[in-house]
Amino acid sequence: MKVLKFGGTSVANAKNISQVKDIVDQTLGDRLVIVVSALGGITDLLLKTAELAASQDKGYQAILKEIEERHIRTIQDLIPIASQSKVLSKVKSELNILETLLEGAYLIGEITPKLSDKIVSFGELLSSYIISEFFIVSQLDAIYKDSRELIKTNNNYGKGVVNFEVTNSNCQTYFSQSEHRITVLGGFIASSIQGNSTTLGRGGSDYTAAIIAGNMNAEALEIWTDVSGMYTANPKIVKQAVAIPHISYEEAMELSHFGAKVLYPPTIQPVLTKGISIHIKNTFEPQATGTLITKNQNGGGKSVRGISHVENMALVSLEGPGMVGIPGISKRFFEVLSQSNISVVLITQASSEHSICVGIPAIDADKAIEAINEAFEYEISLGKIKPVKAEKDLAIIALVGDNMKSHQGLSGKMFSTLGKNNVNIRAIAQGASERNISAVIKREDVKKALNALHEEFFEENVKQLNLFVMGVGNVGSKFLNQIQQQRKYLKENLMLNIRVIGISNSRTMVFEESGIPLKNWEDLLASGEKADKSKFYDRVQELNYRNSIFVDNTASQEVSNTYSDYLQQSISVVTCNKIACSSEYENYAELKSLARKYNAPFLFETNVGAGLPILDTLKNLIASGDKVLKIQAVLSGSLNFVFNNFNDKVTFHDVVKQAQEQGYTEPDPKIDLSGIDVMRKILILARESGNRLDMAEIENKSFLPEESLDTTNNDDFFASLMKHEDSFQELYKHAADKDSKLKYVAQFEEGKASVGLQEIPKGHDFYNLEGSDNIVLFYTERYPNQPMIIKGAGAGAEVTASGIFADIIRIGNF
Ligand code: ADP
Ligand code: ASP
Ligand code: MG
Repeated sequence: MKVLKFGGTSVANAKNISQVKDIVDQTLGDRLVIVVSALGGITDLLLKTAELAASQDKGYQAILKEIEERHIRTIQDLIPIASQSKVLSKVKSELNILETLLEGAYLIGEITPKLSDKIVSFGELLSSYIISEFFIVSQLDAIYKDSRELIKTNNNYGKGVVNFEVTNSNCQTYFSQSEHRITVLGGFIASSIQGNSTTLGRGGSDYTAAIIAGNMNAEALEIWTDVSGMYTANPKIVKQAVAIPHISYEEAMELSHFGAKVLYPPTIQPVLTKGISIHIKNTFEPQATGTLITKNQNGGGKSVRGISHVENMALVSLEGPGMVGIPGISKRFFEVLSQSNISVVLITQASSEHSICVGIPAIDADKAIEAINEAFEYEISLGKIKPVKAEKDLAIIALVGDNMKSHQGLSGKMFSTLGKNNVNIRAIAQGASERNISAVIKREDVKKALNALHEEFFEENVKQLNLFVMGVGNVGSKFLNQIQQQRKYLKENLMLNIRVIGISNSRTMVFEESGIPLKNWEDLLASGEKADKSKFYDRVQELNYRNSIFVDNTASQEVSNTYSDYLQQSISVVTCNKIACSSEYENYAELKSLARKYNAPFLFETNVGAGLPILDTLKNLIASGDKVLKIQAVLSGSLNFVFNNFNDKVTFHDVVKQAQEQGYTEPDPKIDLSGIDVMRKILILARESGNRLDMAEIENKSFLPEESLDTTNNDDFFASLMKHEDSFQELYKHAADKDSKLKYVAQFEEGKASVGLQEIPKGHDFYNLEGSDNIVLFYTERYPNQPMIIKGAGAGAEVTASGIFADIIRIGNF
């Protein structure tokens, strides 16, 4: 005998049921038992009608109508007209009984668990009857059997406890006498010894199939559902999850206990003792391998086999100073919970016995608190125990695997992955079998936690980085283009999967949870919602993605003010905006310290030398124990461009204009020409070398006339340059006469920094600096005489974008 169970989605409508028939048709074997769920969604609707009727809400009638229509339509679509009337009239008469029951509940304004089970049993009764009739008209040798006549339980309505002895004998008798090859049964429903309808708990059709398989010593149990097996994590939440081909009973049990809904947890017990394998298969993709559940350890030495989670949990802790002295306290605590019919999903107890903490379904939390506080009323009145409270809106996530016990460091890896992603852990439990490690976290963190853990344990180190990009001007747009070009390479070679989830400019912003298609980001952004920096932040926070990175490509003070908010949510910040790092020292230091505290990199390589690896090199020197003695640098690509192109044949004004137009200057060119930009850079270099320095302490010998410095807009600034052309020509001539070139030099030595124009003679390291190139000389304890030199293009949108990109990759490798 083979037992095949088809779940709600598999039998949701006529089309799917036909698919089921094809599968049954192609299954070999002399005896088949087909267990079916209610048509998908019907159980929920039935429960809803009961709830509404009990609260005397006539709305139940509309839902009843919907239930009726779905069944009638399924019959009409499945069964040829000539054979329809018998089936329709049977189903309608059943629905009449259902209607009468609901009317009764409506009139009394109450529903008992017994009546609820009776009402909900109609789902499987009807589906199994309709499917059996369809099989029969399709020429299969099939018969319908009411499973309530086979499976017997106690009176625990809602979740009957199976009487295996009676059930077994019923099954043996029935199947030994049945002459049909195929028997169709409704899952989930049973009856008490007295004959009242009972149910086996939500999702219980799997269990029905396992009970029959166990009793009849079936050769196989197949669970046909809407996914291709038991996955490494819930595939609806973790897109990268994959089906586990082979898994042990115990692993499957743990995974389902902790929420892998694909298998109802009690299902395994009846087949485990008999060694009957369970095969989970996909009705909609029958050729997929699915998951085979058997006795052996099948992971091929793999430690973690799956990650599951249960939502809607609550934590209830019993604690108090006098707890140690109260005898049998845990016994009483658990008795109270069990008497109140509350199932405990997770337990932790501190070794000092000062507290016991349990994870229970949130729906039972209030009931639990009331019962516990009542049971310990006396101890609470004496102050030995604190009145218990429940913490709700929680979830449990569990790592599961038979081989976990032989692998060290798994829990460390689990908790550090969660910590890195700012997921707060409320409680931890490790099963004695060491087959699972579970953690209680906030419900809102589930998606992030699952994806982060999945990435860590299953995705062969492919790391997903989720970017939120603000500013798509010159640099930002180049940056997005570079990502688009490199995505495939990064994924294949660096195992980094970069997705841009949000983009904003000063006018609009756009978000796409699965990643913005970068081919047409411009159109999407243009038709996005109105830009708003704080709403942007709210969205980033709400989305709550792991490895989130905020990228600032603006030059805005306001945007730089938001970095601390991001960092405090463990969201990394990458910026080419120099404002934050050159603001007051306290602010800079605070951002660095937040980055450390929240494990979120704060990177700003492009603040100095655009794409050149200046800060990264400096960081490595310092980290490896070197000490900076002196820094000399030409750090302004813009000023270098200007002075390299300026001579007695062109005007200073025109050269500056050209620099601005080609993107070599800040939008406000005075920031470059006045030396402020260079001051910011040497300040950042000094700070990153470990010095406490502020802008006001930097000496700036400006070459610009006062009048130019005093202008307040670009037009006036350019006009003043024109006016003072003579003085600029004078500077040029003075240097040229000595065969020297003008370079704007920044210097830091013995705690003092200065910037200014210098005449650089032939032979000097700075003399041959071309175009917009930058150069930095680091004199350190290890490089005291011959400095370490970094030189290359130090401005321009393309190189700056690539510097930002490099920071993103650094975070990826972090
Ligand atoms: P059926 O109606 O066929 O019994 P269920 O809805 O009860 O189907 O179970 C299948 C669903 O279980 C899947 O659609 C998926 O959303 C969910 N699920 C949760 N965790 C897992 C997991 N680890 N592997 C596969 N499915 C899972
Ligand atoms: N129909 C029942 C439910 O939805 C049982 C099942 O589908 O397994 O819970
Ligand atoms: Mg199910």
